[in-house]
Amino acid sequence: MSAQRFKNRHGDAIALETEEIERFKTLLRGVLIQPHDDDYDEAREVYNAIHDRRPSLIVRPAGVADVMAAVEFSRKHDLLLAVRGGGHSVPGFGTCDDGLVLDLGRMKGIRVHPERRTVRAEGGCTWGDLDHATHAFSLATTGGIVSTTGIAGLTLGGGIGHLSRRCGLSCDNLVSADIVTAEGAFVTCDKERHPDLFWAIRGGGGNFGVITSFEYQLHPIGEILGGSTFYHLDGDVLRNYQKFIADAPEELGAVFALVLAPPLPFVPEDWHDKPVAAVVACWSGSSDEDERVIDTLKDLGPVVGQALWRMPYPVINTLFDELLPRGLQHYWKANFAREIPDEAVAVHLEHGARVPTLESGAFLFPINGACHRVTADETAFAHRDTDFAVVIAGTWRNPADNEKNTGWVRGYYDALQPYSEEGGYINFMSGDDQARVPDNYGSNYERLKEIKAKFDPDNLFSMNQNIAPAS
Ligand SMILES: Cc1cc2nc3c(=O)[nH]c(=O)nc-3n(C[C@H](O)[C@H](O)[C@H](O)COP(=O)(O)OP(=O)(O)OC[C@H]3O[C@@H](n4cnc5c(N)ncnc54)[C@H](O)[C@@H]3O)c2cc1C
Repeated sequence: MSAQRFKNRHGDAIALETEEIERFKTLLRGVLIQPHDDDYDEAREVYNAIHDRRPSLIVRPAGVADVMAAVEFSRKHDLLLAVRGGGHSVPGFGTCDDGLVLDLGRMKGIRVHPERRTVRAEGGCTWGDLDHATHAFSLATTGGIVSTTGIAGLTLGGGIGHLSRRCGLSCDNLVSADIVTAEGAFVTCDKERHPDLFWAIRGGGGNFGVITSFEYQLHPIGEILGGSTFYHLDGDVLRNYQKFIADAPEELGAVFALVLAPPLPFVPEDWHDKPVAAVVACWSGSSDEDERVIDTLKDLGPVVGQALWRMPYPVINTLFDELLPRGLQHYWKANFAREIPDEAVAVHLEHGARVPTLESGAFLFPINGACHRVTADETAFAHRDTDFAVVIAGTWRNPADNEKNTGWVRGYYDALQPYSEEGGYINFMSGDDQARVPDNYGSNYERLKEIKAKFDPDNLFSMNQNIAPAS
C-alpha cells in the first residue's frame, strides 16, 4: 500500500496512506491537488515568489462543507495547515512545505444588500471582486490599495486603505462573519453571537478559524478624486504632510511614500528613477472641493509632477496593480509612529534616497480620523492611539538580488526603531521577527491568548502572526 509524505504541526515527518487521501477526496465538491497533478505548480504558487513551497495537498473548496471536511482532516491527522485567501501574505503564511493548503480562491460569492448598505462576500474574494460588486450600487468600504489582495487576510489583520480616515479600518466595518473553527464547527459571529470570537478576528489575524464569509458595512461612495503628487525628496515635504494630515478632512485618504519616480507621462523624463517623496490621495468628498484639494497637495513642497482626476472608486485600488504583479520577490518590515520627529525625518531622507527598485518604497499610511474613534480594546486591533502605520516594502524581480534588497529593508527599519512605537501592523510585518509578535498585538495580546485557548487550544491555525494559546 503506498503512502504520501507529510509534516505535522510540530515539524515531524509523517506518512498518510493513499487510501486515506482518496477517501478524503470523496468528501469534497471542490478540487484536491497533489504533487503529481498537472496544475500543482500553478496551485502552489503564492504572490510573493520568495516562498517556493511544496505542500503535500492543496484543497480548493467549493463551499463551507469542503472547508469543514478539510479542517477535520487536518486536525485528525495533525497536519500542518495553511489557509489561503488572496495569497498576498508577504511572509508566505498562505502556503507551507509538506502540509495541507486550504485555498479559498474559488469561493467568490458576493451579495450586496443595497437597502441595508451591507455586503456579504466569501473568503476567496479579492478587493477587486468586492469593489466591483459594491460599486454597482455606488457603495464602498475600506479595502486595500491593490485590487488583487484578499479581503480575508487584510480584514483579519485590521485593514488600512484609502478610506480608513473616513470609514475606519476594514475590520471596523465588519458586521458579522461565518467561521469554521478548529473543531470543524460552523459558527456565525457578530456583536451578539460569539462576541469574543468576533472581537478577536477584528485584528487578531487568521488565528481563530477559517472565515468562509465576511459581512461588511458599506458607505455611499461612488466617484472620487484620486492620483499622485511627486515632490523633491525634501524634509519639509514630510514635515508639512505630517501637520496637514493631522486635521485634514476625513474624506481625504493620503498615503505618504518615499519611492523612485516612475516613468509616467506627467513625470519629467530627467526625474525618472530618481528618489522622490509622493502622496497618493483619494478625496471622497464633494467634487466642488477638488481644486482646493489639488492646490493643498501642491503646497506641501516643490512638485516634480502631479496627476489627480475624477474616477470610479474601484479604479484607485488598481493604480498599482500593473507595477506589482504576482511573481516578484518581497520582504517587508513595519512599525507604528505617533509622530515623526526631525530625527526620524532625517532617517527617511537618508534611507529613502537609497530605495533600490521602482517597486520598493517606504509608505506611511495615516490611521487617524475614524480609526481613532474606536478604542484600543473595542476590537483586537490595539494600535488606536498611533497616527501612522509605516511599512518599509522591499520588492524586486531577480532572486539574485535578495541580499541587497532585504539589507535595505533591515537597515531602514533598524534606523527608524528609536522613533517608533512598540509593535508593527501584522499585515505589513515579515515573519522572521517572532519575538515581536506580542507587541504587534499590543495591549490586547493577553485577551487574544485566552480566546485562542478557547477556540484553537492545539494551535491548528499556526501559519500567521501566531498567538500562543493561554495555558
Ligand atoms: C501588494 C500588496 C498590497 C497590500 N496593500 C495593503 C493595503 O493597502 N492595506 C493593508 O492593510 N494591507 C495591505 N497589504 C497586506 C495584506 O493585508 C496582507 O498581506 C494580507 O494578509 C493579505 O491577505 P490575503 O488574503 O491576500 O493573504 P493570504 O496569504 O491568503 O493570507 C494571509 C493570512 O490570512 C490568513 N487567512 C487568509 N484567508 C483566511 C480565511 N478565509 N480565514 C482565516 N484565515 C485566513 C492566512 O492563513 C494568513 O495567515 C498588501 C499586501 C500586498 C502584497
